[in-house]
Amino acid sequence: MLEVASLGSGSTGNATLVRSAKTTVLIDCGFTLKETLKRMASLGVAPSDLSAVLISHEHGDHVKGIGPLSRKFGVPIYLTHGTFRRLKDDRLLSYELFHAHAPFTLGDLEIDPFPTPHDAAESCQFVVRKDKVSFVVATDMGVCPPFVLSKLAGVNGMLIECNYDDDMLRNGPYPPSLQHRIRGNFGHLGNLQAGPVVRAVDHPALECILLGHLSEKNNTEQCALDAVLASVSTNPERVEVLKPHTASRWYAITGKAVAGDAEATV
Ligand SMILES: [Zn+2]
Ligand SMILES: [Zn+2]
Repeated sequence: MLEVASLGSGSTGNATLVRSAKTTVLIDCGFTLKETLKRMASLGVAPSDLSAVLISHEHGDHVKGIGPLSRKFGVPIYLTHGTFRRLKDDRLLSYELFHAHAPFTLGDLEIDPFPTPHDAAESCQFVVRKDKVSFVVATDMGVCPPFVLSKLAGVNGMLIECNYDDDMLRNGPYPPSLQHRIRGNFGHLGNLQAGPVVRAVDHPALECILLGHLSEKNNTEQCALDAVLASVSTNPERVEVLKPHTASRWYAITGKAVAGDAEATV
């Protein structure tokens, strides 16, 4: 079994805890150290519980707390060479460079990184596996190409990006150049793109679909939820929207078929 909790997800900060009974990793740390520690504590996790912090890319909403977390607690930071090169705060006490196509293990977790199309030096995301149970983070991608889709196929839980609502972005406060960047192939997934991605990889043992990285200016929880629910044919209770400024609850991911689907196949 895996357990997953978000410390917060949105354009202003992202951090996700994934743990087995023995190993806990934090994916990204886009909040100040103080805020990170407060939100981790609310979930019963201390810095000494972390085996590692995995970094997806160098944007501030993913790395804000990395330097202080590393220097104060010595937690090993795992990142690609390109991400390390672009880090503004690169004074890390302990770090490991990984290749975005090469899986590695941390305790009893298998980490399967994969490159993502995003306007960062060497961005990637992660599938985390414990035995046959898997969870993927799929945010900060302009599009979801077949290679990325193949990484999402068969997972039991996912955090999928719903950055913007099309109309809100068009009519919102962002200048055309920034809108273009967000919509571009190296920007972010919008609500209308996330739905088909979920539909393409949905299966009876996909238990948990967390919608994240919502823009506070160009999206609402309801817009994101409506868009993805339109693409989910069974068990809508699997879908939840993560909050930007508060931690979520823990989500248990067991790898078993969700109840409604199991009954439907009897
Ligand atoms: Zn981001
Ligand atoms: Zn980014």
